[in-house]
Amino acid sequence: MAAMTSSERPLLNRSLAAFGTTIFAEMSALAVRTGAINLGQGFPDTDGPEEIREAAVRALRDGRGNQYPPGPGVPELRTAISVHQRQRYGLAYDPDTEVLVTAGATEAIAAALLALVEPGDEVVALEPYYDSYAACIAMAGGRRVPVTLRPTEGPGGEAGGRRFQLDLDELRDAVTERTRLILLNTPHNPTGTVLTREELAAVAALAVERDLLVVTDEVYEHLVFDGEHTPIASFPGMRERTVTIGSAGKTFSFTGWKVGWVTATPELVTAVRSAKQFLTYVSAGPFQYAVAEALALPEEYFDGIRDELRAKRDLLSSGLTAAGFEVYRPAGTYFVTTDIRPLGEHDGFAFCRALPERAGVVAIPNAVFYDHREQGAPFVRFAFCKREDVLTEAVSRLKGLAGS
Ligand code: GLN
Repeated sequence: MAAMTSSERPLLNRSLAAFGTTIFAEMSALAVRTGAINLGQGFPDTDGPEEIREAAVRALRDGRGNQYPPGPGVPELRTAISVHQRQRYGLAYDPDTEVLVTAGATEAIAAALLALVEPGDEVVALEPYYDSYAACIAMAGGRRVPVTLRPTEGPGGEAGGRRFQLDLDELRDAVTERTRLILLNTPHNPTGTVLTREELAAVAALAVERDLLVVTDEVYEHLVFDGEHTPIASFPGMRERTVTIGSAGKTFSFTGWKVGWVTATPELVTAVRSAKQFLTYVSAGPFQYAVAEALALPEEYFDGIRDELRAKRDLLSSGLTAAGFEVYRPAGTYFVTTDIRPLGEHDGFAFCRALPERAGVVAIPNAVFYDHREQGAPFVRFAFCKREDVLTEAVSRLKGLAGS
């Protein structure tokens, strides 16, 4: 078929032309093709709790959620999300008017941006940013204004000293009369940075001062190894201007279920739902019942997944250090960002494309998450949500790199 119509107009909506195929699909396909260990796309190689899987099976068998569930999500899940926010963070949200279930955090991000951003609006986002942010801002007709997290070795950093840090002056300078919202992500993918209470307080003060909305992606809220996760909605003046996004995928190791959610004021939830209803209308019913049970798991579950991933972080971080990478040990998420320059490499793209051949491992070049590509060029991300034996094997393969 011709790539152009008779008028020579491209088939793909021009706002999406720059985006191509996501790096995750590209790199997972590369892993399958080469048989390399896939430390690229962030998905666990073991499923979440057996009883939660069984809860989904039970819902399917009992006919709960097999027909369209309610648009905002099933009441059991909305209540469980509300209880989760209140018990953990002291944030009270009415399950009927202030909670919205979405098809993963991805849909929540899309719906929030489509609902709140108009053509010409500026969206300030932390760079490197999760790839769907840029595409969704573009689909909404907005303009993204990246604020780059800078690598530092300064005090107050994560264990090991190095972290990617938000420069609060740069953030302040990025806000203009056209800024509609700040798009936040903490714990942050791909750098693993967890914004501190002080940093969040400063972002909150700026949002209040400039009367901005904040959309905050907190899907890794339970995967914090050093420090603690604080929702920005809990700061003074923030509850009424913040759309908080969560997801079951990361916390419960069921990334394929695609159950996410939004908590916000009734006005903000109504706005996000207006966009969401025309994207998917609803997300898969039986999984919603299972996630409601997952959110009510005892505290040992949440401690367990965190401790397990902390040990894996340490295993992979030490292994990467031994293999010659400079490692930014993450305070949260299940990703570790490395600098490849000590290996005599400068181009993360070229490095990642060659890595399966050279070492039998797949990783993600962080440059894809940057507008300022040169800033991200030497950084490469590895996922550690994999079995211990898989990580051990990956580390042993990577050890040979320096000499290859
Ligand atoms: N969030 C996952 C990652 O960063 C992947 C999600 C996706 O494939 N879109 O690896």
